[in-house]
Amino acid sequence: MPLLVMKFGGTSVADLDRIRNAAEKVKREVERGYDVIVIVSAMSGKTNELVGWVEQTSPLYDAREYDAVVASGENVTAGLMALTLQEMDVPARSWQGWQVPINTTSAHAAARFVSIPRENLDAKFAEGFKVAVVAGFQGLSHEGRVTTLGRGGSDTTAVAFAAAFAAERCDIYTDVDGIYTTDPRITSKARKLDRIAFEEMLELASLGAKVLQTRSVELAMRYKVRLRVLSSFEDTDENSGTLVCDEDEIMESKVVSGVAYSRDEAKITLFTIEDRPGVASAIFGPLSDAGVNVDMIVQNISEKDYDEAHSGAVTDMTFSCPVNQVARAKKAMEDAMAAGEIKYDDLIIDTDVAKISVVGIGMRSHAGVAARMFEALSAENINIKVISTSEIKISVLIDRKYMELAVQALHDAFELEKAA
Ligand code: ASP
Ligand code: MG
Repeated sequence: MPLLVMKFGGTSVADLDRIRNAAEKVKREVERGYDVIVIVSAMSGKTNELVGWVEQTSPLYDAREYDAVVASGENVTAGLMALTLQEMDVPARSWQGWQVPINTTSAHAAARFVSIPRENLDAKFAEGFKVAVVAGFQGLSHEGRVTTLGRGGSDTTAVAFAAAFAAERCDIYTDVDGIYTTDPRITSKARKLDRIAFEEMLELASLGAKVLQTRSVELAMRYKVRLRVLSSFEDTDENSGTLVCDEDEIMESKVVSGVAYSRDEAKITLFTIEDRPGVASAIFGPLSDAGVNVDMIVQNISEKDYDEAHSGAVTDMTFSCPVNQVARAKKAMEDAMAAGEIKYDDLIIDTDVAKISVVGIGMRSHAGVAARMFEALSAENINIKVISTSEIKISVLIDRKYMELAVQALHDAFELEKAA
């Protein structure tokens, strides 16, 4: 039997009507001849409520009990989905993580998959069951305790099942109808993409296009799981949504596929640091130990060969990190200074910046993308504060107040409203 994985997120199972609507989509695929593994999230808002209850009960909670509580939201929707399907005469059975079993590490609240043995589900399909409804987001540690995968983890559950069961496709049903060239709330010219390459999606996901958990895209890329994002609020067919796939499956693509942004960035500069071997390591080691996610890094060329006050060459170092990690970053630098590991004359923090990135696999084979990007920003009089590039991405930091304008200008400059 060909097999499909269908995942329904929280808004798609928010109440009994929504569950019935989702079940109808599952039934349609069964009628087309598929065996289906359905992965469900908790009803929308449920996981937040459960997390809140844990935090109110025990501020420094035991992570094992946190997982025991927050995993329960998915148990409810799995059982209700199986019952709804049975009411529609579709033979369905629900599975909690431990029943499959979904074996994970014992890193509670951030567990990773170890293995998903097929035997139990395969045996049920062989008995004539058409649908296995699996609770997303949860697993079982080798100590025999319930684990969870981290917020948004049901996407990753879906991809892991698609890989383990060699599914034809993994359909992720959500409340948007696909992946767009940029956030449609910022420009009405944003266009839904028919296809996007894994690598592009990975850049967009990690830049805050919150449609898919980043880990699910990493896993899909590693196991070449064709992933489709589509809306459970619309009538859908085999051409709906956006297919996230290998770049070999994308015939025609534009040089730039999308413009992403990240609003809450901060820029920190250490002025007049020594320019000698080991300085970068003395700065970024403590930042990493403090759990600061450093993103862009710029080191100036040392302007003066010799600086009297420092008896050696000096330079400046700038880096960016999420705004809510600034206090931690500042403390790590001050502690390193106090311990004599680094020296700086000044530490300047700018918390009013945003990051804008253009992403596209076409950049590998086309020159001039950076020039076009900078020209478009300059035409709007937007000052660029930091630049960084990778093979398929160019990012800049700018003042946050120009964020929307920059996204619109770049969307226009690369003519993303037009299909390739
Ligand atoms: N219910 C979990 C959460 O809200 C997992 C998921 O929906 O992906 O994070
Ligand atoms: Mg989600």
